[in-house]
Amino acid sequence: MSTISTTVSASAEDYVQRVYSEVVRRDPLEQEFHQAVKEILECLVPVLSRHPQYEANAVLERLVEPERTISFRVPWIDESGKVQVNRGYRVQFNSAIGPYKGGIRFHPSVYSGIIKFLGFEQIFKNSLTGLPIGGGKGGSDFDPKGKTDREVMAFTQSFMTELYRHIGPDTDIPAGDIGVGAREIGYMFGQYKRIRGGHEGGVLTGKGLLYGGSLARKEATGYGLVYFVQEMLAAEGHDFEGQTVVVSGSGNVSIYAIEKLQQLGAVVVACSDSGGYIYDPQGINLDTVKRLKEQERARISEYVNEHPHAQYSEGSTGIWTIPCQIALPCATQNELDEDAARKLVANGVMAVGEGANMPSTLPAINYFLQQGTLFAPAKAANAGGVAVSGLEMSQNGMRLSWSFEEVDERLRQIMKNIYRSSVRAAEEYALPGNLVAGANIAGFLKVADSMLAQGVV
Ligand code: NDP
Repeated sequence: MSTISTTVSASAEDYVQRVYSEVVRRDPLEQEFHQAVKEILECLVPVLSRHPQYEANAVLERLVEPERTISFRVPWIDESGKVQVNRGYRVQFNSAIGPYKGGIRFHPSVYSGIIKFLGFEQIFKNSLTGLPIGGGKGGSDFDPKGKTDREVMAFTQSFMTELYRHIGPDTDIPAGDIGVGAREIGYMFGQYKRIRGGHEGGVLTGKGLLYGGSLARKEATGYGLVYFVQEMLAAEGHDFEGQTVVVSGSGNVSIYAIEKLQQLGAVVVACSDSGGYIYDPQGINLDTVKRLKEQERARISEYVNEHPHAQYSEGSTGIWTIPCQIALPCATQNELDEDAARKLVANGVMAVGEGANMPSTLPAINYFLQQGTLFAPAKAANAGGVAVSGLEMSQNGMRLSWSFEEVDERLRQIMKNIYRSSVRAAEEYALPGNLVAGANIAGFLKVADSMLAQGVV
């Protein structure tokens, strides 16, 4: 079954195959969830071969089944007075090492398969940060694009009116994700506070700085991604200075990855949104991108109106045909397939770092690994956001706030630690340099051993 793992026993292979088949049988339509489960289980074969206690205690069967799945109706009234109904979700996947923690996504593509893949990945990512946080994820098929502020508020308040009963600072702490930024977190926090009748700052992270947010949270996922890739490059004697970089997306993760890349001397020549991508061979003007995306909520195509030497092309996948030394997919799942991987490698890409969750398909990952491309998997490389969310919870608990520099330094240290523990785990299981396997194994061991210690629950 595996192209990623190498040290295997037949019974561990069988075990993984059985668990995976059961996942597909139970929820045949949840393709993204199948993909996330497959990637992780394949990497665990050498661990399961060496440690039969995990199979004996049905750890995998329990891991792939969420502790709780909540699905609910979200009615709201639009500007024309019409009643709209969306569907909301929260998947509380695993609380073995801490309260559930994971973002909320508002995007029309959201359904149970997306929320479950994100929640499942979050278990291992959160474990890798070294912080005591379990895995969860939530969202809705609501599309914030084209909605007025009042509509976004109406929807978000209705969403929280149901969600509030399932979350809390010691049980489940949501944050942002695609379509959920500072504005939506603010509205959610306001409604939670109103219903609960108390200022429980630790119930959400990614809050505004004026009411309990952490400095450097906004920057954390993008900066953290760049810190992780910096470690990976340094191990091979490289750095970012003068490198040509392509970053997909132009949302929170992309913008702050670009900011840090530019600070480190890289030339970022392209970014995108769901409509298309811009190519600016002189290097992207980040002030323009920030204004268009963070303030005006405009399309990336408008960039070329102000920078006529740049080009705009329709369709977001063409971005991977641009020659670059480093590629950072930071938009969405499965945005980089095997064809794109082949083009990147043919054009001389040296390193790929995943800022989005599961942006590369399994064949694309396998191709990069076979070609010896340095590859930083999402679970490890984009863990900076949740890590600083964890630091936001600590600051809320202590009723104090750290400086930007202090949070940034902790983030840098956490990303270094994640890199080192992924490298170590890969080496321990005879897969040197395979950070996909290393991150999955290191994340798994802590959760699995906590599950064993806590009995059959
Ligand atoms: P944002 O909503 O801020 O930005 C998302 C970006 O991706 C936008 O440019 C958007 O374009 C683009 N995009 C979304 N869907 C598609 C699509 N189907 N095809 C092409 N482009 C698309 O989200 P974030 O930056 O917060 O999240 C980006 C990724 O990073 C997600 O995978 C998320 O799960 C992951 N992530 C985010 C973290 C965070 O702290 N925010 C933490 C860890 C991971 P458009 O505006 O046109 O929709």
